[in-house]
Amino acid sequence: MTVDQMPAPAGAASTLDDLKRRLNLISDLGAAQSLLSWDQETQMPPDAARVRGLQMASLAGLSHQMFIGEETRVLLEAAEQSSTVSEIGADLLRVTRRDYDKATKLPTAFVEELTQARSEAHHAWIKARGENDFAHFAPYLSRVLDLTRRYAELTSQGDHPYDALLDDYEPGMKTSQVRQIFADLRERTLPLLRKIVAAGDAADYGVLSRPFPAAAQRAFSLKVAAEAFGLQPGFSRLDVSAHPFQTNFSADDLRITTRFDEQYFPMSLFGTWHETGHAMYEYGVGRELERTPLSRGASLGVHESQSRMFENLLGRSRAFWQRYFGEFAGAAPEVAAGQDAESIYRAVNRVQPSLIRVEADEVTYNFHIMLRFELELALLEGELSVAELPDAWNAKMQAYLGLTPPSDAEGVLQDIHWSSGLIGYFPTYSLGNLLSVQLFEAARRVPEIAAGIEQADYAPLHEWLRVNVHQYGRRRTPGQIVQDATGQPLSADAYVNYLFDKYTDIYGLEA
Ligand SMILES: [Zn+2]
Repeated sequence: MTVDQMPAPAGAASTLDDLKRRLNLISDLGAAQSLLSWDQETQMPPDAARVRGLQMASLAGLSHQMFIGEETRVLLEAAEQSSTVSEIGADLLRVTRRDYDKATKLPTAFVEELTQARSEAHHAWIKARGENDFAHFAPYLSRVLDLTRRYAELTSQGDHPYDALLDDYEPGMKTSQVRQIFADLRERTLPLLRKIVAAGDAADYGVLSRPFPAAAQRAFSLKVAAEAFGLQPGFSRLDVSAHPFQTNFSADDLRITTRFDEQYFPMSLFGTWHETGHAMYEYGVGRELERTPLSRGASLGVHESQSRMFENLLGRSRAFWQRYFGEFAGAAPEVAAGQDAESIYRAVNRVQPSLIRVEADEVTYNFHIMLRFELELALLEGELSVAELPDAWNAKMQAYLGLTPPSDAEGVLQDIHWSSGLIGYFPTYSLGNLLSVQLFEAARRVPEIAAGIEQADYAPLHEWLRVNVHQYGRRRTPGQIVQDATGQPLSADAYVNYLFDKYTDIYGLEA
């Protein structure tokens, strides 16, 4: 950072500053749009949806036009030609150039057509899922797929069309790498899953559905989020929404949401800590990057690694429950009656093949993702038609998890992603899982951090994450972050070892 505190030659500085001012303005429009969107999901009365949609579209159109406009191109080129630029300035130019080239490769007419097709497919999906009628959704999905292939051609980054899609969510990641990592993960974790299923399960899960009032869940999960995970009320707030998410309007204005089920407390507790992981990533981004394209997480996968670390590696750990069981019992006396730290630890780590991705445990979750990745590739490559998709889905569910969905609503229609044109997005969930453990193990090589984790004192871990991951925002690619922080490229190794150690112990398996 010290380089940036040195005065740059006047010409160079003013050019870069002019560009920055424009990017600040575009960023502010984006923040206003995010605020409208957050409000829509958490506070807005339902009748306001129509005009709110128009208002958000106006802001989105305005910021997009400003970004791809002639003035941005002129300022960007001028700044690129100046010889003296600070390190952060050079990173800003590189990332802005990347975004600009991507945004300007797409003809406006195509963007409008894609937006329209996604919106229609989304509405068709809601109806199809509600009525368990895949045939209703099929033509809309076919259209989204055709346009997605066109999108991949227009923004092509590598040799496989999927590379271009993946690059939107996980910059620099290649399809061939994902294929290889997933093949390794599949080969090494299927035997573990088979052993767990064969071992049977005598644990008592009834405890998870004992009554725990929403207000008490909220108070307990927020207390832990503040004390253990660093989320302070001075820069954050928690609201309720239909689907939990995290958003932020600056690094000091973090919004997370959750949902409460008084007969199933893990939903809000682990959901809140998951979103806290996302929020603390944004909180850790360097303030010198604010209101620029650099001021957010490096990728969806890196983001998910932070949320999964808080939710699973910390929140579902034995040390965590040993530290927090007493407070949990105070907040939820009916749940805790006759229980102890070990029995709660055991209950929240149930492994069970299930139909629905978002409810899956640590062992089965990645199979839900591999299945989707394989189907997306087959669809994109033309090896699978949309009409064949439900059968292909069911066959893979049977092969991986030994289950056949009783309906398409609980199978191929369960996720929102494809209807919204988000193809190439799913792998980031599993990449995030793998990365969460790879980072965690790297951090634990520091004795002070390892000792803290054993006491559920996460301040040293948090500082390591801030220094090695959070502070950079988008200044470094996901690949650079992983390599520099862990000394190795992303692989399944750490995750596979973690699963074996944890679940061999929990299920009393032969090692
Ligand atoms: Zn997440």
